Amino acid sequence: MKPTKPLVAITGASSGIGKATAKLFAEKGYPVLLMARRVQLLDEMDIGHKITAKVDVTDIEQIRQAIKKAEAVYGPVDLLINNAGIMPMDKYVDQSLKDKYDTLDVNIKGVVNGMDCVLKDMNARQHGTIINLSSVAGRWTSIDHALYNGAKFAVNAITEQARRENAENNVRFTLIEPGMVDTNLLDTTTNQEVLDAYLINKNRLKGGLIAKDIADAILYTYELPQHISIKELLITHTQQK
Ligand code: NDP
Repeated sequence: MKPTKPLVAITGASSGIGKATAKLFAEKGYPVLLMARRVQLLDEMDIGHKITAKVDVTDIEQIRQAIKKAEAVYGPVDLLINNAGIMPMDKYVDQSLKDKYDTLDVNIKGVVNGMDCVLKDMNARQHGTIINLSSVAGRWTSIDHALYNGAKFAVNAITEQARRENAENNVRFTLIEPGMVDTNLLDTTTNQEVLDAYLINKNRLKGGLIAKDIADAILYTYELPQHISIKELLITHTQQK
């Protein structure tokens, strides 16, 4: 039987927060469109009504095609979660240009691409929610995070202004801003010294929050009645300073 709940699209659903969020929404009966580059990981996920697509978020056509495929089965995307992200940390002066550009491409352009794929339709339907994963790094800068900070600050600014411009159309925009969460995000940092310095804090928090904590926050935010818009949710482990 087809689910009665609307379609939820999630980028970066193959790992960490995206994966936990996909599982939770599927458990609650939402059909989910799961997007990531490692599509085999998405295919292996044993969850309810899902469509998987190999998507690199830096390529808008790949997102567009995935959404088209899922909407043909489950109707319009009512919630888009722009979650895909990378965090190659390093001192600004040492970081390669490739890592710098990749950080901007995935974390900013990827979000813009996702928003552009659904926003006009949401406006036309006068209904929809876009949730963008930012970070505490979108609120304040910290050592070895220059490009990541820049990307997340940009996501905050873009999301807030898009929210204002589309509020009248009943479209909600939410920024989720987690502190440390125990996921695979550190895999993209290759400088061992930088990683070790970061891990001192992370280990002090025993890894920090878990991905399911953020998934719960996303579900809570989305399931509020449409006239209630949580604009920002800054959420950290209690002992994170
Ligand atoms: P993970 O590394 O566990 O997951 C990242 C996800 O992003 C993966 O599914 C990966 O899939 C996907 N991804 C990366 N690059 C691309 C790309 N070019 N195209 C499509 N998908 C891509 O990290 P998290 O779960 O922690 O990160 C999720 C979000 O949460 C990110 O935006 C991150 O910045 C944010 N965040 C995380 C925090 C933390 O402490 N973990 C704190 C604050 C914010 P694949 O490789 O298969 O493409």
